[in-house]
Amino acid sequence: MKILIINSGSSSIKFQLMEMPSETLICSGLVERIGSNDAIINYKTNLDELRITKSIGTHSEGLNMIVELLQDADKGVINNTKEISIVGHRVVHGGNSFSNTTLITPEVKDNIQEYATLAPLHNPGNLEGIFVCEEIFPLAKQVAIFDTAFHRSIPDYAKRYAVPNELYEKHKIQVYGFHGTSHQYVSEKAITYLGMDASKIITIHLGNGCSMTAVKNGKSIDTSLGFTPSNGLVMGTRSGDIDHAIIFHLVNNLKYSLDEVKTLLTNKSGMLGLTGHMDLRDIEAKAEKGNRECQLALDINAYRIKKYIGAYVAALNGLDAIVFTAGIGENSSMIRKLVCAEMDVFGIYLEDSKNNIRSKDIREINTADSPVKILVIPTNEELEIAKQAFALVN
Ligand code: ADP
Repeated sequence: MKILIINSGSSSIKFQLMEMPSETLICSGLVERIGSNDAIINYKTNLDELRITKSIGTHSEGLNMIVELLQDADKGVINNTKEISIVGHRVVHGGNSFSNTTLITPEVKDNIQEYATLAPLHNPGNLEGIFVCEEIFPLAKQVAIFDTAFHRSIPDYAKRYAVPNELYEKHKIQVYGFHGTSHQYVSEKAITYLGMDASKIITIHLGNGCSMTAVKNGKSIDTSLGFTPSNGLVMGTRSGDIDHAIIFHLVNNLKYSLDEVKTLLTNKSGMLGLTGHMDLRDIEAKAEKGNRECQLALDINAYRIKKYIGAYVAALNGLDAIVFTAGIGENSSMIRKLVCAEMDVFGIYLEDSKNNIRSKDIREINTADSPVKILVIPTNEELEIAKQAFALVN
């Protein structure tokens, strides 16, 4: 049975076509920089690898481009769209409505739309992906896998905000957490790698969106993104934690409108706000050439992660391993080094030579005598989605 996995981010669409239950990867790819004139499409099969740069304005254009490639006479892997039995969609915010993977119905789409106010960078793109796929693959089962589901195990004392009870009881204002499929996937891999059933792990997902999760015995007990995917770590364009009184100051004294504040903190802050770049590769390259603004942004970013490690060691009452994952976590030896520097109080000791090795495999980058393992584990949200979608439909 062929399952197409669609993981549409704010400006990207990752896709994988898999044969299940054998977990055989048929092809994979990524459309990056959607909304720009120089969007990049990467497409990979067992035989071919292809990179195209072209203007792609919307997620819909990106998805149609993917479908063209899948059916391409030369490099394609299917004869027609009917061969795809399931389309599994990553959906960022499922609120309290969805604790499990679910078949997409009109009601589910309404719910995803409703939660778009809480995940404005993601749920609209996710929903657009669903609408386009329903048209392109009318016979396939459309399944949604929610980023919030893994964090349903967070205890009340960690998921509640100290605001009047009514806001929780009537309006469900609480920590939901995100990147659940990624934290679940890498923490399961880490547990297998460590060979420990009882384990205390901190998973650090650093992509365009960034979050950390404290995972105790395989379950999420706290996470850095909260009610929306806004707070916690410094992200590509999002500020992460700020004093909320800054918002009142911007509105009352600096005369920003609420929409302007939202755009400022969601789309113009984070690494972009600090440096003018959102791609960490650009920032690292400038910092290496002595650009102080870029170096400071990297230091701010790493310092925030360190503080969350400290907090989560307290939440877990110990630590067996930290796991770096996603675009930055897997590839940036510079960020990993900054995060792990002077963390001996927690038993975290990085081995530089191991940190500098590039690999797609799970790897350990701590010193031989480091009490805490430092692992780099490539995330595979798509495989996690495929497994859950297949299990649901069958
Ligand atoms: P998303 O959150 O959209 O899924 P990814 O997990 O793909 O994002 O991560 C995207 C981020 O990874 C970008 O900021 C990019 O700069 C960063 N990245 C990718 N490759 C590298 C690299 N070799 N070095 C540093 N950063 C990288």
